[in-house]
Amino acid sequence: MGLPAVAFTEHADYTPWTVLDSGPDADEHLTALATAEGSLTPPELDLDGYLECLQRCRDQFPDLHIISGVELGEPHWHGTAAARLLHAGQFDRVLGSLHCLPFGQPILYQHRPAGDVVREYLAEIPRLIEGSDAFSVLAHIDYPLRCWPAGAGPFDISGFQGEFRHALRALARSGRALEINTSGPLHPEIVRWWREAGGRAVTFGSDAHDPTRIAFRFAEAAAMADASGFRPGRHHCDYWRYPGHVHFRKDGRNAGPISSDVRSQHAAG
Ligand SMILES: [Zn+2]
Repeated sequence: MGLPAVAFTEHADYTPWTVLDSGPDADEHLTALATAEGSLTPPELDLDGYLECLQRCRDQFPDLHIISGVELGEPHWHGTAAARLLHAGQFDRVLGSLHCLPFGQPILYQHRPAGDVVREYLAEIPRLIEGSDAFSVLAHIDYPLRCWPAGAGPFDISGFQGEFRHALRALARSGRALEINTSGPLHPEIVRWWREAGGRAVTFGSDAHDPTRIAFRFAEAAAMADASGFRPGRHHCDYWRYPGHVHFRKDGRNAGPISSDVRSQHAAG
């Protein structure tokens, strides 16, 4: 498929999930693994097996640059377990993500009005960022939009602009990167707001849980990042960065690059 490099980011989730035994989201496989009360604690990541598997892939595809990664679910709630795993795994790339909210795991639209779910998700993002320095890339900030319920009407991202910008500013202040996740609908507004919040770097994730989905819509995502001013690095595994110095005003908002000269120097160097 022409990919020069790939990062595998296996899940490490620690928050117990409530498994539904009826309705459209019910899953027999998960129900069988859950307790009688419907609680499922995700099994621990088989670290040795995972790292061995990555090595087998490197041996089999020597021309493909394969880096090791992990996606930590709610690391701000599971700091000790996450730190232990990172120490043992020495991963090249660590994503932080929210799959669960304090009121329901996973995100259950049937428990709340749809708009409230999105707002509560985005409100939890700064707590994730400020509560954990274990990760360097925030995964899928738009995660709840993937399953926006049809009954709630068409999704309009402009109604959540303030909440997105607030979460993105917290991420920018922390100096971390934003993942453009292509498994759900793509929203160019988020990438633009990220840049306007002072965000300096993006990564691309197809969240492929199936080989046929690897790099799904990456060309479209790359065009979106490019349109917001992000540029690829020298190496295939580098983040795409926003060239130029970002100047922060006293109110914390990004006032843009200082000058085009600075921008071109950084683009060149
Ligand atoms: Zn995820």
